[in-house]
Amino acid sequence: REPVRSICCIGAGYVGGPTCAIIACQNPNIQVTVVDLDQARIDAWKSDHLPIFEPGLRDVVQFARDEQSGGREGFRPPNLFFSTDIDCAIASADLIFIAVNTPTKLVGQGAGSASDLAYVEAAARRIAEVSTSDKIVVQKSTVPCGTAQTLRHIFASVAQNTDVNFEILSNPEFLAEGTAIRDLLSPDRILIGSNTDSRALQAAERLADVYAAWVPRERILTVNCWSSELSKLAANCMLAQRISSINSLSAICEVTGANIDQVAQAVGQDTRIGSKMLRASAGFGGSCFKKDVLCLVHIAESYNLHEVALYWRRIVDINEYSKARFAKRIIQSLHNTLDRKKIAILGWAYKKDTGDTRESAAINVAGQLIAENAHVAVYDPEVRPDQIISDLTPHHNTDTLAKRVSIYKNPYSACEGASAVVILTEWDEFKTDGLPSPVANGLDKEVLEVRLVSIPRRTSEGSRGSSESSWVKHDCSSNERSAENLAESPISEPETIPPRLGKK
Ligand code: NAD
Repeated sequence: REPVRSICCIGAGYVGGPTCAIIACQNPNIQVTVVDLDQARIDAWKSDHLPIFEPGLRDVVQFARDEQSGGREGFRPPNLFFSTDIDCAIASADLIFIAVNTPTKLVGQGAGSASDLAYVEAAARRIAEVSTSDKIVVQKSTVPCGTAQTLRHIFASVAQNTDVNFEILSNPEFLAEGTAIRDLLSPDRILIGSNTDSRALQAAERLADVYAAWVPRERILTVNCWSSELSKLAANCMLAQRISSINSLSAICEVTGANIDQVAQAVGQDTRIGSKMLRASAGFGGSCFKKDVLCLVHIAESYNLHEVALYWRRIVDINEYSKARFAKRIIQSLHNTLDRKKIAILGWAYKKDTGDTRESAAINVAGQLIAENAHVAVYDPEVRPDQIISDLTPHHNTDTLAKRVSIYKNPYSACEGASAVVILTEWDEFKTDGLPSPVANGLDKEVLEVRLVSIPRRTSEGSRGSSESSWVKHDCSSNERSAENLAESPISEPETIPPRLGKK
């Protein structure tokens, strides 16, 4: 069969960028072009300041994007391109990935649970309108069951040129942010859904050949489109379910004599259950889990499977409860008043090794603390200050943010004078980099949790016990940026913010 020679990926986000970078690295004979409507995002992909932080990503992108000469491979021409010329990339591709966002619908039927497929439909229509040769169209976004079939209808109704054949495949992405490169290089499985006619099966094989450049064939599963679409939702729902399960058990631990770490270890050592994703936390975040659980809820409801819908909806309910419970514990531990108290928040990203803050538990917890008149002092090694402010802006007015939020370039100054230090992202540096000693001494290496500590303010001479000197020796006053300052001089130039804020 004819090998794929040219790939276009619509959507240069957390999925499209890393996935295509790996495909390009592993397939030097395939030209890969990632396109997006967002000019700033494309410009960033072409620069040294990639639009997303992901360990190992920069090396992979540079390898495929920039001409390589010398070394073991000798001369290697670039085969990874980023562009906003969507039509041109579509026209010259054999295979097109759709990797656009599929958020929860905000208005209309199914608002609050159904997936908004507007971006998917817009991408499909564009493909149908500009294509003059046969295309394999691969749905990579996470979508409700039946979307491949919907795309077939769109292509049948929109395509101008009836001689052009569109084969629709489902190929959901299972990478996790923070480990995307590792996941892409060594995936547990590649899932390809197709129809069962010979043309569709051949298209599925051509896509499988792209992955077979580095993925063992036995890990490439071919299934029907419905199974493929549902499997992706099911995987995310079951991962979210594990997190809500362990968080609900941690609530029981806190009112009994049980210890959640001990329970998680004892349960996780059962080989039928396994030890992964059993860390208690303030609740799951990220752009996917909540929306995918809600998408499954909507599918169940639309087939009148109300008990099934209710079962999955409770996973999201428990997550909301976990975030509220976490904030409540902080407030109660500080005598039910946060008025004029400084609370340090270490970590804003929804998990370590990413700068992504979408649905981060930190946004919710900080919001609850601000509502109690606390002053929150935030530090995160990867999240930009303007992102933190923009995450809080929908819930608080600018005046409140200016008074109640400060963003720091290092954790030491964020913790100085704080009544509590709240760790909301499990960044390694919080475990190993010599945090303020009252925090570090009690910090569990694995579990993400709140430590309530009393950290004295620095005296004018800066004199403190030796155990505190590791974090007071940094003069951090110039690193502080209040929300007010940020509002007056928004940070728009990436170069004004070093890629690793506060890294020593
Ligand atoms: P994202 O928001 O980071 O990126 C989507 C990109 O698509 C944006 O840059 C947007 O500008 C672009 N876009 C939207 N419509 C477009 C159009 N018509 N033409 C060109 N560009 C367009 O989203 P993401 O996190 O990469 O997720 C993409 C999909 O993959 C979602 O369905 C998500 O559920 C799924 N997914 C995400 C992850 C993850 O960890 N982020 C993992 C697996 C699957």
